[in-house]
Amino acid sequence: MMNPNSEIPRSTTAATADDFRKRLRELIADYPSKEEKLRKLRDYARKNVPGAWHYPDDREPCSYCPQTATGHRPNLGIRGYVGTGPYALVSHVPSGDVHFKSDQAQTYWPLLGKFGLSNALQTDAFNSAKWMNREEQQALFQIQIEVVEPTTMFVMDMHSYPRRRSDGWAGIGFLPTIEDYLGSGPFSFEVQRQYRPQAPVMRAGTVNYLDPEAKSFSFGVFTIYHYTKLADDRFGRTKEERVAKWEERLLAVLAATGSPPVLA
Ligand SMILES: [Zn+2]
Repeated sequence: MMNPNSEIPRSTTAATADDFRKRLRELIADYPSKEEKLRKLRDYARKNVPGAWHYPDDREPCSYCPQTATGHRPNLGIRGYVGTGPYALVSHVPSGDVHFKSDQAQTYWPLLGKFGLSNALQTDAFNSAKWMNREEQQALFQIQIEVVEPTTMFVMDMHSYPRRRSDGWAGIGFLPTIEDYLGSGPFSFEVQRQYRPQAPVMRAGTVNYLDPEAKSFSFGVFTIYHYTKLADDRFGRTKEERVAKWEERLLAVLAATGSPPVLA
């Protein structure tokens, strides 16, 4: 039997994001649950994309440690990449924190549980820090969102903002990449022109998904601080200050979504 992965067009071909999306959809079509589909996408990425996505998953052993019965489990209370929503958390590039034993990891991941986000899909704007096939990257991002159908997306970018007098974005963040990824195929991205990172308008945009033969959904895109701020002494002098500032933004955004999760 042919390995289905080998049929997926790679960077040597002129495949478009639409081609990749179609093939990735076929790859996961027979898996009934969201979690199984995400797992299959992750298997594909682990095989084909060096350094793709890296998150702790409390139900699985660490893929970087020896696989023994007593092997390392990064048990930080979240589902990570196989989180099925309804929230999606988008960071920049995969974490280089292989075993999640740093103070930052030990602070950040449990915070998500505290705010009802333990089952959020964790993903990155750039699947890998090493590999950059833009079309495949866009398709992978789109397929994850198509599978999860999030009700809200939190993007860790407090730098980008829409230009006042023309189209496009100012600042140096990756929100423009998210707009670009979710601006074609069955997706469209409506920019909230009044959005500013530190202003009362916390919704940066709205994503609409419409596949006339399958389904439609839409969700708001909101911005939060990147988790590395939790270990950045320019962000706050003490860890307590940093956590408080990070939480304050997340709480404000959760309230602004109109359907905040129930806190534990
Ligand atoms: Zn490990």
